[in-house]
Amino acid sequence: MIGAALDPDSELTTDLIQPFQLELANVRGRALRLSRVLDDVLGRHDYPPIVEQVVAEAIAATVLLASLLKYDGVFTFQAKGDGPVSLLVVDVTTAGDVRAYARFDADKVGALESGGAGRLLGQGYLAFTVDQGDKSEGYQGIVALTGDALSESVAHYFEQSEQLPTTAKMAARRYPDGWRAGAILIQRLPEDDAGRIVKPPVEEEEDWRRANILLNTVADVELLDRTLHLNNLIFRLFHEERIRVFAPSAIQRGCRCSSDRVQRVLSSIPAEELEDLKIDGEIVITCEFCGTEYRSTDGAHVTEKAYA
Ligand SMILES: [Zn+2]
Repeated sequence: MIGAALDPDSELTTDLIQPFQLELANVRGRALRLSRVLDDVLGRHDYPPIVEQVVAEAIAATVLLASLLKYDGVFTFQAKGDGPVSLLVVDVTTAGDVRAYARFDADKVGALESGGAGRLLGQGYLAFTVDQGDKSEGYQGIVALTGDALSESVAHYFEQSEQLPTTAKMAARRYPDGWRAGAILIQRLPEDDAGRIVKPPVEEEEDWRRANILLNTVADVELLDRTLHLNNLIFRLFHEERIRVFAPSAIQRGCRCSSDRVQRVLSSIPAEELEDLKIDGEIVITCEFCGTEYRSTDGAHVTEKAYA
């Protein structure tokens, strides 16, 4: 799990992940809803609405995938394609800090009549990695971009790469008061999970099929409704399956750039190359994730100007 654990009885209905288990069905799940964190991340950029849409979907997918993993570091989602959006990056730390950016051709995006991940990203791939600092790379996955919605590529990824059968439903939408995203994922419990109930395989197949049918009854408005507590939504969908919910955890915007990091990078560059980087006697580096601007005249002293 990622993010700081909240009180199990937390009344919060958004910017969190809610883990759960269907005890009779040997199925585990994650529900998530995001709103302020999306506004905070997207507010650092000035993207056209159709680009914001695909970034919001990518953030929901990233948090959902990361919530299935045990890692100590950074989980990164990267979409690369030959469309108007050439690169889309989202990362989330174990602490639940999310950030994102997109690189795109503004003219090509402006020429599109409608959005959608398929049109924006074109032909390409999704890649997932975990960086645990000194420790070994814990996780790596890659899948071709498929279909119109990012969720189709994510579903395709689950089919191809996850050893455990996994299904997810996702939605993201901009409302007059801001962005919202919601998602629910279910996954069969591993064979060695301590919480398993012993059952004949044919019954387990039937349980999995039923859990999928129930999951498919969820409407986008339910995933996105901030007044609907996630526990109530999980109960509404799966109440016949004996549900156990675990402590939810919080997700928020956060960037890891700093003047120290910029200074370390600059100090590794030879003096003559530093000169080439200067414009009007100054080196200016802007963080692509959060817009914070770093300036230096000598490569040794760095001043920081937060995104306005
Ligand atoms: Zn930053």
